[in-house]
Amino acid sequence: MIYHFAEIEGKWQKYWREHKVFNVRPDSKRKKYYVLEMFPYPSGKIHMGHVRNYTIGDAYSRYKWMQGYNVLHPMGFDAFGQPAENAAIKNKTQPDIWTHKCIAWMKAELEKMGFSYDWDREISTCESSYYKWNQWIFLKMFERGLAYKKEAFVNWCPSCETTLANEEVVDGGCWRCYTKVEQKDLEQWFLKITEYRERLLEDLQQLKDWPQRVIAMQSNWIGKSSGVEIYFRLKDNDKVIPVFTTRVDTIFGATYIVLAPEHPLVKEIIKSKAEEKEVLKFIRKVSRESKAIRSSEDVKKEGVFTGSYCINPVNNEAIPIWIADYVLMEYGTGAIMAVPTHDQRDFLFAKEHKLPMRIVIKKPDPSSMGAPSNQKPEDLAEDYEGDGIQINSGQFNGLPNQGAKIKIAEWMEKGGIGRIQTHWRLRDWLISRQRYWGTPIPIIYCQKCGTLPVPYEDLPVELPKDAPFTGKEGSPLSKVKEFVNVPCPKCKSPARRETDTMATFFDSSWYFLRFCSPKFDREPFSKEETKYWMPVDQYIGGIEHAILHLLYSRFFTKFFKDLGMLDFSAEGGSANLGGGDEPFRKLLTQGMVLKDGEVMSKSRGNIVDPDSIIKKHGTDTLRLYILFAAPPEVEMEWSERGIEGAFRFLNRVWRLLEHLKQKPQTQTLSPELQKKMHRTIKEVTKDLESFKFNTAISAIMELVNEIYQNLDTDITEAVKTVILLVSPFVPHLAEEMWQRLGNKESVLKAEWPEYEERFLEEAVITIVVQVNGKLRSKVEAPTDINEEKLKELVLADEKLKSWIKGSPIKNFIIVPKKLVNIVI
Ligand SMILES: [Zn+2]
Ligand SMILES: [Zn+2]
Repeated sequence: MIYHFAEIEGKWQKYWREHKVFNVRPDSKRKKYYVLEMFPYPSGKIHMGHVRNYTIGDAYSRYKWMQGYNVLHPMGFDAFGQPAENAAIKNKTQPDIWTHKCIAWMKAELEKMGFSYDWDREISTCESSYYKWNQWIFLKMFERGLAYKKEAFVNWCPSCETTLANEEVVDGGCWRCYTKVEQKDLEQWFLKITEYRERLLEDLQQLKDWPQRVIAMQSNWIGKSSGVEIYFRLKDNDKVIPVFTTRVDTIFGATYIVLAPEHPLVKEIIKSKAEEKEVLKFIRKVSRESKAIRSSEDVKKEGVFTGSYCINPVNNEAIPIWIADYVLMEYGTGAIMAVPTHDQRDFLFAKEHKLPMRIVIKKPDPSSMGAPSNQKPEDLAEDYEGDGIQINSGQFNGLPNQGAKIKIAEWMEKGGIGRIQTHWRLRDWLISRQRYWGTPIPIIYCQKCGTLPVPYEDLPVELPKDAPFTGKEGSPLSKVKEFVNVPCPKCKSPARRETDTMATFFDSSWYFLRFCSPKFDREPFSKEETKYWMPVDQYIGGIEHAILHLLYSRFFTKFFKDLGMLDFSAEGGSANLGGGDEPFRKLLTQGMVLKDGEVMSKSRGNIVDPDSIIKKHGTDTLRLYILFAAPPEVEMEWSERGIEGAFRFLNRVWRLLEHLKQKPQTQTLSPELQKKMHRTIKEVTKDLESFKFNTAISAIMELVNEIYQNLDTDITEAVKTVILLVSPFVPHLAEEMWQRLGNKESVLKAEWPEYEERFLEEAVITIVVQVNGKLRSKVEAPTDINEEKLKELVLADEKLKSWIKGSPIKNFIIVPKKLVNIVI
């Protein structure tokens, strides 16, 4: 019996499609489960990264189906964005045509993978039936002051010819093309995500089933810090420089302050000073450096003295004012107080420029028994950032610094020389893009009436098909006269349309809601249907979205909740999304697929095309291999031998059908096989709950081995169990075998097998250990221990060691599951 995978896979994909097996509707009598993988850019072909991401989601969905859940598992395309526009420029076609072609290719490939999607819910963000709602949401935000336009220094990618959000700048480069990001002064549209910062931070605590890493990344990005804003008065006049610090306990050790070169006071304080020329030269130099370089840890910090002084308000000392490259205008107040003894960067900077230092926190020293510290700042080899006792700190001397922090802050506030404050790192989200292939921002500018929203009844503002997009020379929409020139919706006089488009992260911030009611035409989504389906129970995607898409989606969901558009609550699981405004209950971030230790990529030339594997060994082999090769969260190294191994295993499972036809000598299931079967069910179920597909699959492999050792008994029940257990991973093979066993319905409709406790006993056996034929010890071992492990276990036994006493072992005899005899 040959395993004709191509025939089987084609047959079942057709069956699933024609019978709409994966199509679902809300059903109040059944429990729902929403599994979602981050939808792809339609770049054309699917790659191994997609295959891994979607196979994980698919196996899990199928498992949930068999557990009896009503499973929503949709798929769509994140279809706007620069890749399509660039490809269209390169291939001399329209982004619209290009994108639809890519979607058709990708959809065919996804179907070939046998993924269990409800294709009736397919969405593409580039359709006006979708982006109309982007515009609708934008207008709702505009009405509430959450979408606004302002002039600001913004990130500009010269290669993509567009602005970027802070979240899209990675190590100073464009997240998409790695080009060094520049700063440009432009008028742009922003979303006021900062209005939600408190909730975005607070509610991270609800996300118990998210990776800790992602929680930490979001928390850092939002960046809440409590401290004191201290007012340093200039020595020469009454101007004040506010400085924010989280370490007010070190204020008595502040021996100079440093301003960002862009600080508005700089020009004033250097005026007609001897240092003026040098300072201006330094400012020009810094303006050419990227912020990432300026703030990175391993680059030497440079700075110059301004010639001016200010007063440290706690002790009235005059301290010098410097400017330095590592202080950025964006963070805090654009000025820092420097405490070289208790901050590493200040320490290195002070040493370099021979600036004064003073110790104000005494390191706890157990040997000194409280004797006065003899430490001199000149002798310090490094700074000390830990806790200790205040010294050189006036009335606060002798207090532990943590307690002093609060006392000093209150004292400063009372004296009017400081104010207790909270600072945030998160900035508003810049969404304007000067590119063609995105959602037009629905705004009209009238000379008489000002900035006006496009009336709701005029939505969608459609993208004109004939824009001259070249990727160069500014916004393409601004060149389409019929698009730009419109009558003012209020006074009807000639007006101008906004020509920027929205960042595509806008589109993906709510697509998971659209999937709940993809054809709903009164609002972006139906409150009724999202009430049934939301939240997404299991979300799966790449870690690269930790602070982009995942933060924006949380923001949008909270906004919809505030608008009264959502009414879901989450039950079950360890997470309690009590607020009903968190979109994703559980999150899994899958690892990358490597070849020869490197990420698969065109430029490295190490791509393995999923198609080639499917042609040679079938989809099920590819699916099984990719799940078996490594746990989902970690990187996996591609291996051709692994593929061969997966294929051999599937053949072995397939041939079980043949053995079923032969009449066995014994008409009952062997007790060993029965035990193994129940244990395997228990293990696989437990593993699937925690996404340990690799160990689940290896447990099934062992069960198959056990079946082959019991071919003389009735193996029917065991084979049935194998088919059910293996079906989430290799659904085509499982369907075919299931049908050949006489079942009429899809295996997906079968129940997930359950184990019986009574078969799980005796997981441990006692093994008699002899030395030269005489009983010397007994050890307990798992029933299924292999020889290698058993040998290790026996030799580690203390009792036995005392009998052998280091004598060389001549022979090691094992009687399986009973006895070991060691000959010395
Ligand atoms: Zn770029
Ligand atoms: Zn007007």
